[in-house]
Amino acid sequence: MSCSETPLSPGVRRRIEEACRQAEARAAALKHVRNCRFDTIAVHGLYTVEEALAHNQGATMEPLFLSAAQAYRDSDEMEAALAYRIPTWCYTRIHNPTLGYLEDTLALLESYGTDVDAGCCLYASGMAAIDGVTDALLVQGQGESVNFVATCQVYGGTFQQFSVRKMRERGIEVRWVVDSNNLEEWRGKIDKNTRFLYGELPSNPGLAFFDIEPVVRLAHEHGLPFVADSTVASPALFRPLAHGADIVIQSVTKVMSCSGTGIAGAVIARKPILAHFLGDDVKADFAQYLKLWPQRDTGGCLHPFQAAMTMNDLRTLRSRVDCWSQTALQVARWLEHHKSVLAVNYLGLPSHPLHQVASKYLWLVDAEHDERYGKPVNRYGHMMSFRVRGGAQAARDAFDRLGMIWRATDLGRVKSTATIPAISTHQQQGEEGRKLAAIPPDLIRLSVGAEHPDDIIRDLDQALAD
Ligand SMILES: *Cc1c(COP(=O)(O)O)cnc(C)c1O
Repeated sequence: MSCSETPLSPGVRRRIEEACRQAEARAAALKHVRNCRFDTIAVHGLYTVEEALAHNQGATMEPLFLSAAQAYRDSDEMEAALAYRIPTWCYTRIHNPTLGYLEDTLALLESYGTDVDAGCCLYASGMAAIDGVTDALLVQGQGESVNFVATCQVYGGTFQQFSVRKMRERGIEVRWVVDSNNLEEWRGKIDKNTRFLYGELPSNPGLAFFDIEPVVRLAHEHGLPFVADSTVASPALFRPLAHGADIVIQSVTKVMSCSGTGIAGAVIARKPILAHFLGDDVKADFAQYLKLWPQRDTGGCLHPFQAAMTMNDLRTLRSRVDCWSQTALQVARWLEHHKSVLAVNYLGLPSHPLHQVASKYLWLVDAEHDERYGKPVNRYGHMMSFRVRGGAQAARDAFDRLGMIWRATDLGRVKSTATIPAISTHQQQGEEGRKLAAIPPDLIRLSVGAEHPDDIIRDLDQALAD
């Protein structure tokens, strides 16, 4: 929203001046909340007592605006709004005030502990968020054939979106990086038509991880943005913007919306992002650009009801992620010693080849301000995968014997869930694609929930008994 002035009618100008005063109040609230700890931001975001009393009948919870459209006081206000000259939501496909509360909170959580200013754009799902970002970055000049470079260990839906929707159907080349810890492999795949570098870390379900800072520097040396999907860690453990990334993707569906009642996605972008091929106006506030222009025209917006549901789950993110990470570590240690288990992938196990590099980045936020810890502590999240001895059928048999743990292609839930990626999330990418992403057919992905670890282990124990 611009406060700059070009010749306008006095009525429109009045509306803009009013909006500039509101923007100042918002900036003051933002300054205040940025001094708060992570938990406080997750609980309150930018929704204040003052706002509740002045505008929302004192409602202690952020109001849910179930209205497709916003009415304007007069034609001046409508004109200023539709020129995006005043804060407006206009029509729920463009924006909705309920979404605004969640977007503010997510932007603050992802930029927590840094001086990065970030914006957020919500989407109807994580996949829509990935498509929204990548589509906006794949700017094609005349006669150019653009490409992008991405880690090959990505979520199954992302693999399909990149390899089928973008590459096969539209001829946009995705250049897969097989060893994401090899900087020379990244470097060798960049050319003048590359538009961005993309990394999922930790990856779902393989838990691949890489040293992100040198890769971000490499992207920036080429004037390119770095996009990180850090869904599995969540900002409670890992905030890529703090390590220089330009854009973060969250499948908000997962640990952020742990109750499991719906789907949501988000793009969080620093202001400004780096991208040599984009105009300054697009780069300055890329998340807002996505929202007010491409998403308005493509329509993948989130329903305000889901935004309200997500806000309620999000308030407890840090303490949940801490607790579930500790449960996951306990379960992983137990699995590691089970005779029916061939291998356990959990970044928290010292035996994991990527344990060290993951330990450089995965820290429980604010542990140093938590009197139980009083110092930084590593946490590794709620997700692991393990291979069952005896091959694909043995894995299926154990999976079928699970009692309490739900057989579902889902993760980040308050209830533990398990899936076999080769026959579910990663079924469509075929044998070769699975080999590339290191998804063997005997692999079970386990997402640990809030149950007592004894009961999770008891269920796994009976399932693995042959
Ligand atoms: C689930 C997931 C997605 C896709 O998100 P949806 O909300 O299901 O569309 C993208 N990336 C990762 C890492 C995921 O786990």
